[in-house]
Amino acid sequence: MYDYLIVGAGLYGAVMAHEMKKRGQSVLVIDKRPQIAGNVYTKEVEGIHVHQYGAHIFHTNNKEVWDYVNQFATFNRFTNSPVANYHGELYSLPFNMYTFNKMWGVVTPKEAKEKIEAQRKEAGITEPKNLEEQAISLVGTDIYEKLIKGYTEKQWGRKCTELPSFIIKRLPVRFTFDNNYFNALYQGIPIGGYTKMVANMLEGIEVRLNVDYLENKDEYDSLAKKVIYTGPIDAYFNYKLGNLEYRSVRFETELLDEPNFQGNAAVNYTDSETPWTRIIEHKWFEFNDQPKTVISREYSSEWKLGDEPYYPVNDEKNGNLYKAYKELGEKEEKVIFGGRLGEYKYYDMDAVIAAALEKSRNV
Ligand SMILES: Cc1cc2nc3c(=O)[nH]c(=O)nc-3n(C[C@H](O)[C@H](O)[C@H](O)COP(=O)(O)OP(=O)(O)OC[C@H]3O[C@@H](n4cnc5c(N)ncnc54)[C@H](O)[C@@H]3O)c2cc1C
Repeated sequence: MYDYLIVGAGLYGAVMAHEMKKRGQSVLVIDKRPQIAGNVYTKEVEGIHVHQYGAHIFHTNNKEVWDYVNQFATFNRFTNSPVANYHGELYSLPFNMYTFNKMWGVVTPKEAKEKIEAQRKEAGITEPKNLEEQAISLVGTDIYEKLIKGYTEKQWGRKCTELPSFIIKRLPVRFTFDNNYFNALYQGIPIGGYTKMVANMLEGIEVRLNVDYLENKDEYDSLAKKVIYTGPIDAYFNYKLGNLEYRSVRFETELLDEPNFQGNAAVNYTDSETPWTRIIEHKWFEFNDQPKTVISREYSSEWKLGDEPYYPVNDEKNGNLYKAYKELGEKEEKVIFGGRLGEYKYYDMDAVIAAALEKSRNV
């Protein structure tokens, strides 16, 4: 009999397992995948750590979480500075002085502001009725046409004129030569990959892989006094109230026999014609010098039951359905629901770690 059965070896489950073990509790971790680390799993290919479930950049303002993860990994100095490719013209992201200089040849912040202001005025939008009008009223027509329109339409699968304006309340515009995408105090990638970091969290803890909890629920429940479940909450209840929806991403990953494909970890394709939204070149997260390289093209895709669930859909219908499942969950005395799937919530890595640490103090 274990004190805790932890379903899911992702970040939430691994932090919980580590904390419970530290408190002298016996723990068994199971995961239905053949590997640990959940969605932050990095697979080694030709010495390159490939982010199999999407590119993951650790960034946080939370000192406690930063100190916490640094017990399990040393972080490198990676700074997220994506590049936009619009029909072969390259622009720096997020929008900053390098972007404006390339776009218009302006040199000073004053000139850049004047240019944006002139385009906003010319568009004459007072009350934006859709995303297109909202974007133009924030950054003018050139940036909208070249850097926002195509990318956003690919992401949402709809025209910007058909998308509501509230999707972009603000846009990150910097009148400095700073192309660090995140404003976070701490940022980096664990040297050696995320899988190694999670393995260090799980050191000394029994982990069983390729095990689907829901297929043998009664048997696994009988093994422990408490269950921490980090899988989808609707799956736990066999979708009896209906299924929660997600937005999905499809990755096409390729090993190339060349050392440097695009010279940057992330290049966004902001035109409408290129079918993918961006290309990730994994080796640049860790400044590697292997003779080969691995790239992943990302495509936005509609999600259907059975696909990998990525981003929860924050609309009323799904919000209400989650609430109903949460109420059912509260009646399961032995079970704690946690993590991005258990709580149907978009969590960044630092937030999911903070949530697990908080929960571990309260159980
Ligand atoms: C495309 C994408 C990119 C992202 N990029 C970033 C980023 O750059 N920076 C950042 O901070 N955050 C990023 N995130 C968020 C990050 O992925 C999450 O914060 C984190 O993975 C959540 O961990 P988790 O443990 O809650 O979930 P998961 O990692 O999904 O772990 C849940 C685990 O439970 C297992 N499981 C589910 N059901 C069962 C079952 N029935 N039986 C056994 N096991 C089961 C699953 O196999 C999985 O391993 C990104 C998310 C996505 C989708």
